[in-house]
Amino acid sequence: MFVDKATITVVAGNGGNGAVAFHREKYIAAGGPDGGDGGRGGNIVLQADSNMSTLMDFRYKRKYTAANGMDGQGALKYGKDGADLVIRVPLGTVVRDPATGGVIKDISDTEPFILAKGGRGGWGNKHFATPTRQAPRFAKPGAPGQRREVVLELKLLADVGLAGFPNVGKSTLLSVMTRARPKIANYHFTTLYPNLGVVYAGEGSSFVMADIPGLIEGAGEGAGLGFDFLRHIERCRLIVHVIDASGSEGRDPIADFDTINAELRSYDERLAERPQIVAANKCDIVEDHAQVERLREYVEAKGCRFFEISAAAHTGLNELKNAIVEELSKLPPVAVFEADYVEPEPVLDTAGELTIEHEDDYWYVEGPWLDRLASRVNFGDTESRLYFERTLRDAGVFDRLEELGIAEGDTVGLCGLEFEYRR
Ligand code: GDP
Ligand code: MG
Repeated sequence: MFVDKATITVVAGNGGNGAVAFHREKYIAAGGPDGGDGGRGGNIVLQADSNMSTLMDFRYKRKYTAANGMDGQGALKYGKDGADLVIRVPLGTVVRDPATGGVIKDISDTEPFILAKGGRGGWGNKHFATPTRQAPRFAKPGAPGQRREVVLELKLLADVGLAGFPNVGKSTLLSVMTRARPKIANYHFTTLYPNLGVVYAGEGSSFVMADIPGLIEGAGEGAGLGFDFLRHIERCRLIVHVIDASGSEGRDPIADFDTINAELRSYDERLAERPQIVAANKCDIVEDHAQVERLREYVEAKGCRFFEISAAAHTGLNELKNAIVEELSKLPPVAVFEADYVEPEPVLDTAGELTIEHEDDYWYVEGPWLDRLASRVNFGDTESRLYFERTLRDAGVFDRLEELGIAEGDTVGLCGLEFEYRR
């Protein structure tokens, strides 16, 4: 079964917790704080693999979790960062948000893409030591890793897409022009997923060719398997339309040409407008050459270049290859989808639990939403700082501190920030 759409859940690693520890050495009574920081959680990274041509793997495995960061330890030992989890996807995989369908990323080059960020590691108690507060008994927990559900959709990236009826010789053509080894057999629908190959055209020039599984009549309306595959031609810059010129299956080559084009048109008008080169295949077994000439006239009248080839006997292939290179040089590069998904600003929910710890005149406030709040605030900006204070006040943080007996001039530590308390 060919799979070109999959929904997966990715979970980046949590940050490790900061440690609460104190220096210990023989004969030294009370050492200073030396709790190390937690490690960063591993990211989930998507990486294009040009050898992959299906999303098959994602049918069996749907959840991907990166490693957590390790907790910090005493003696200022940092926790190890969690390893990134690299997920390989075919080139041309479009990553979408399931709710809105927005494009998060089109994996159209080999740059790795961070899909989910690992959580920050928490600070060890060493960070909280000041001249007046020498033995802080708190550390910061690690932040949770990002979790998201995404839809992967494959829209293959190839310069050239081979289109045509089943059994006309598309896979054979791919195998003789490239090093790809698609299945070749004398029955319909042998190709169950697209095959890709690189065609070397001399002097460092090359192009990618995709063998798109056979179109059948009605595929454009979703009647057959072909419909699913049509989406892969969408991004091809050039279509090489392969026709069985010998009519070895009892069909009329001219009717074949029209049928396939009608299929392309019914799927997407723009697909029918895509530049097309016609490769009249199986010329080695053509009995009536006049039939090939009629096909040539018909095709050329429609404005397409026409080449007589035999994929089996390797004739006419160089001429075809040169024409492809020439046409590609005139065409714009492969279309890439621009990311248009904007992650919604999550509503800040201040209902969660807050913990307040205190030691002398130092107040340490901790809570999951505080981190989210802090990550939105730009402390260099007055407006932003006022928003920060207002949110804390509205959430009752100051009231609680008052209840617990905070005094003017005490220090409040939260989200890794410290400020003096003023009423
Ligand atoms: P596809 O379904 O379009 O991929 O077609 P295949 O490449 O699988 O080929 C179908 C059949 O046609 C196979 O038996 C091939 O050996 C045969 N074939 C392909 N190209 C040629 C050719 O140029 N001449 C002849 N005589 N047979 C060919
Ligand atoms: Mg095939």
